[in-house]
Amino acid sequence: MRGMAGVRGVRVAVLGGDRREAEAARCLADKGALVRVWGHRVVAGAAGMGAGAGLTAAAGGPAVAASLEEAVSGVQLVVGPVRGTDGEGRLWAEGGPLELDGGAWAALDREVLFLIGSADPVLRARAEQAGVRLSEYRERDDFAIWNSVPTAEGAVFLALKEMDITLHGSRCLVLGLGRTGLTLARLLGAMGAQVVVVARRSQQLALAEAMGCTACHLTSLGQAAASADVIFNTIPAPVLHAGVLRNVPSTALIIDLASAPGGTDFTFAAARGLRARLAPGLPGVKAPVTAGRILARLVEQLWSELS
Ligand code: NAP
Repeated sequence: MRGMAGVRGVRVAVLGGDRREAEAARCLADKGALVRVWGHRVVAGAAGMGAGAGLTAAAGGPAVAASLEEAVSGVQLVVGPVRGTDGEGRLWAEGGPLELDGGAWAALDREVLFLIGSADPVLRARAEQAGVRLSEYRERDDFAIWNSVPTAEGAVFLALKEMDITLHGSRCLVLGLGRTGLTLARLLGAMGAQVVVVARRSQQLALAEAMGCTACHLTSLGQAAASADVIFNTIPAPVLHAGVLRNVPSTALIIDLASAPGGTDFTFAAARGLRARLAPGLPGVKAPVTAGRILARLVEQLWSELS
């Protein structure tokens, strides 16, 4: 890995996303990058509205391009949304999916580095066809760990909004002890919750105990769920199935953080009258400014590694 080259003077297009990407665009412009944005609601202070907006005004923040083609032409770096694509090669954007048409691909420089949270096979194939280097960043450890903080805080916020008891003293199950589960279990523990970590691997169960949590193997989830006040799921697999949900107290709350469709049988939960919420994209929803700063930091890191 090379040292941090920084993004000063780098021509960047930020495409799609939500307030997180808008904030990242602002941060990159602050760091001296020449930033154009397209396809997300515009940041306060963005410069150059309308036709002819150029790669000029770092001091004035990102420039709003007049078209997608204008946004990407001549840039060295494209930053696509953390939430990736819609399954049909279109970029996720708050206002609706963003199609990269032939004109946009043709306008991209062959040397461009195209960063995106994750890409579907359609986008990957189009990038390959256009000879564009695509790099998917969402699963990187550094990014996932940085993001685990706003995610955990967002999960706690959602729980507190719906609960009529404190998290302090309540029995919280955290399913999975990966990057998100670890930060969440720590946060809940610091708030005085009784944290039960449910995982399948002995190493994670040992870590849970070392952190002062109760460890429970995934095969015993049914029993553990019977006394839960809140269940936070981070396992992207159908672990909260009917067999487990049958045991969950009717007063309990389920917050499912795993990427869609989550790990909960929501149909069964609804039929049982359980409160179960799928909570995607919490960093962008709950702390978009922090999440945008994290994204800008990652972009700078990736630029130094890959450019
Ligand atoms: P991670 O570090 O890979 O952790 C995943 C955890 O789930 C690990 O404990 C893993 O255990 C376990 N797991 C995975 N597949 C399993 C299976 N089939 N059976 C049992 N356990 C399984 O992932 P992460 O970064 O924490 O993210 C977790 C999920 O949350 C992902 O779906 C991610 O997309 C999502 N996420 C959501 C938000 C949000 O805002 N809602 C934010 C960030 C991430 P092993 O190590 O044994 O595989």
